Amino acid sequence: MFRRQILKGCSDKSQTAAKSQNLQIQFATLVDVQLRLPWSSKAPASNRVRVLDVNGRTFPIQIARHQWARRYVLRVTAEGALRLTVPRGASITAGVAFAEKESAWVAAEWARLQARAAWHEGATVWYRGARVTLTGEGADVRCGDQRITGAARRDWRTAIQRHWRAEAIGELPARCLVLARHHGLEPMSVRVRDQRSRWGACSGRGAITLNWRLVQMPPHVADYVMLHELAHLRQPNHSRRFWREVESLCPDWRAAERWLKAFGRDLL
Ligand SMILES: [Zn+2]
Repeated sequence: MFRRQILKGCSDKSQTAAKSQNLQIQFATLVDVQLRLPWSSKAPASNRVRVLDVNGRTFPIQIARHQWARRYVLRVTAEGALRLTVPRGASITAGVAFAEKESAWVAAEWARLQARAAWHEGATVWYRGARVTLTGEGADVRCGDQRITGAARRDWRTAIQRHWRAEAIGELPARCLVLARHHGLEPMSVRVRDQRSRWGACSGRGAITLNWRLVQMPPHVADYVMLHELAHLRQPNHSRRFWREVESLCPDWRAAERWLKAFGRDLL
């Protein structure tokens, strides 16, 4: 979890977190494949050490030549380095210039990584759409008005997330079925998963999966995610008809989408 990295493409600055993760997954898959190919070079593309200074912090730039990359991709690693993917045949200098141009993004991304890694005394985390403060109380951790028994002895983040996941399993499927019944819909099943790149999914057979992180969102946003997936039972696509369906099931879906766009990344 701590090693999650978000991609930044040069041609699409407004990509959503979900899209970034898709790209990341795609990239990871390609790397796996590439490592098995005889012509993939294991040596670094260049031995020259390149760095980028952002707000007084020096980020070493690790260059990775990528056989199939179609554009420069920049990632900030949890260790505080930049990984720059350079498409085959493209110039490293132009790639470094791209990284320099993105320094504001690098600074923001680094701040975000730091904040999410720090689940300790006084840190704030999202729960039910509010930022709640974590405090240790003996062996327990208090998280807003929740008390998570024994969490202080373990990694706080893992312990709290495990607690929330159990909570999600206990309540999300029931809530989803209430919403479904209310709108005359019948999913085949509703399950809770630990999904890294989506908030929910609806299979072609009508099986709905929901991300346990929905319990961290404001209830109206969690409801929207469920209604969105339920709408896929009628429209298994993202066509105009689908969005009309969403509109009728959840008239304030736009506000929910705005929340997800603004804060969704904090939950992952
Ligand atoms: Zn959808």
